[in-house]
Amino acid sequence: MTTKKEPEPTAEKELRSRRGNTRKSNSEEVVIPGTITVKHLGEIMGVGPIDVIKQLMRNGVMAAINQVIDYDLAATVVPAFGLVPVQEKKSRKTSLEALEKRDQGENAPERSPVVTIMGHVDHGKTTLLDTIRNSRVAEREIGGITQHIGAYQVDYKDQKITFLDTPGHEAFTAIRARGAQVTDIAVLVVAADDGVMPQTIEAINHAKAANVPVVVAINKMDRQDANPDAVKRQLVEHNLVLEEWGGDVIGVPISAKENTGIDDLLENILVVAEIAELKANIDGLASGVVIEAKLDRTKGPLATVLVQAGTLRVTDNIVAGIVYGKVRALVNDKGKRILEAGPSVPVEILGFGTLPQAGDKFYATTDERSARSVVEENKRRQVEDQKLLRAMTLEGVMSGIAGGATKELNLILKADVQGSVEAASGALLRLDSPAAKITILHASTGRVNEGDILLANASSAIILAFNIGTEPGVEETAARESIEIRSYNIIYKLIEDVEKALKGILEPTYLEHVTGRALVRGVFKAGKTGNAAGCIVDDGRITRGSYVRIKRDGKIVHESTISSLRRFKEDTNEVGVGFECGISVGNFNDFEEGDTLEVYRREKAKI
Ligand code: GDP
Repeated sequence: MTTKKEPEPTAEKELRSRRGNTRKSNSEEVVIPGTITVKHLGEIMGVGPIDVIKQLMRNGVMAAINQVIDYDLAATVVPAFGLVPVQEKKSRKTSLEALEKRDQGENAPERSPVVTIMGHVDHGKTTLLDTIRNSRVAEREIGGITQHIGAYQVDYKDQKITFLDTPGHEAFTAIRARGAQVTDIAVLVVAADDGVMPQTIEAINHAKAANVPVVVAINKMDRQDANPDAVKRQLVEHNLVLEEWGGDVIGVPISAKENTGIDDLLENILVVAEIAELKANIDGLASGVVIEAKLDRTKGPLATVLVQAGTLRVTDNIVAGIVYGKVRALVNDKGKRILEAGPSVPVEILGFGTLPQAGDKFYATTDERSARSVVEENKRRQVEDQKLLRAMTLEGVMSGIAGGATKELNLILKADVQGSVEAASGALLRLDSPAAKITILHASTGRVNEGDILLANASSAIILAFNIGTEPGVEETAARESIEIRSYNIIYKLIEDVEKALKGILEPTYLEHVTGRALVRGVFKAGKTGNAAGCIVDDGRITRGSYVRIKRDGKIVHESTISSLRRFKEDTNEVGVGFECGISVGNFNDFEEGDTLEVYRREKAKI
């Protein structure tokens, strides 16, 4: 439908007073994408959507506020506001870069803090999260049923605090390893009857590496054998000096079980939050981080996100990693449907096409096309990342230092006994020089674990293992993430290697890349003495001559090279995914049905 009206002088005049300071100067350019909603066009020009609709009407077009219009039509209304339309170049890269830059403004309003609870197992993290939720959320929200959506918000003295519902430093660092940071404050739970334990130390170091302030909750104060002074003393050894002892760390005695001291804890979280001056824009399209994602049989993909800037609204187009969608519904932590969610608010989104990954950053976009182009860009980046050896290796560090690039060497040190930890870390820190700063992010006894890999990944660190191995499965994770674990049993050799790396004379190291996997379906005789495996390639490709390891129930039973590769009794050089083939492996005949052959490439590590 069209309406004909005499054009009014210009909409610009009409709006001059209303736009006030936000008014853009005459002939200022506005960049408009190929398609845009009426509302967003208004936002870009700094005018209200109604003004845009009015101007469209003057031009004979009726459009609704959320209607998507194309660039040509948008361009017809822009001059009326004294601006010059410019079409956005179709650079996918630019779109993602622009989204990444969309962030907290300097003068943005304050936002509430996001808290993660960390500490040793059984020290009361879950109990504390439950106590806070049950006593501060449920009873106030009459009729509201608390939902476990991965995070929840409590009200305390008219302020809000967001708690992430997954306790522990592993979850915290896993998100950080994916390039996002959601936690503002870490609450370190230490049981007063047990004191500082290995995971307490890990948690302290993970928080430190992320530069997140810590509030200590000394828990289980109701117990007869509670010894808070011992806890405080032990914390000093790890450079956490409580205020009452002249330090700057707040410590609060609590009993999570008996619900005592909790108000004091919340009060102090707010004190720390105030010092941190947490701010975020509430205007504009939302961005944040995916906290949790699960598939619901009836509702489809559900993702809990934490909005970090802007406001997320129902009907917004959204993208996270390589998944996009449109918000069909938003559900808060009380199970209520809401229409919008601002900064620090955790909310469950219904509307992603498939499951995004926890730790992925999410963005609301103006339209589906932008969301899709971000997906394309992220896919391209993933491929690049895979191709690019991140090679966080001593040798890489070495060439970085030689080239003047690396100024910091982050290390994680694991050893069999405390004496070795101290000896090695003392010697390593003596290597610290102006050319390269050595930071030991974490040093402890015990095998290299998943947490160490996560920390190394999030903080670009190298792991040094002295007289100690890795926990099951950890080596594979390290290989997948290209994290170097260097093992030593002579302390002097360990120190020497780091020293060499710093001086730039370290021998090259090699990284392995799995290029294909085949599953053994049967075993047959090949030649007079040997056995071959009848396989199906279920990942990548199998190449003759390449390195191979034979795995049974996840354990490596043999490592060698592929000596013969056949398809239909014909020799071949390569077999792709989905195809059957016969494989012989050098010096190995004991194949069993169900074995996996993992083919890999070795490459000299480089930056
Ligand atoms: P998490 O592994 O750190 O999450 O620890 P949990 O919250 O599961 O608690 C471990 C055990 O400690 C459970 O049996 C809890 O009931 C108990 N617990 C937790 N907080 C307290 C407390 O304040 N006092 C006492 N006496 N026991 C507690």
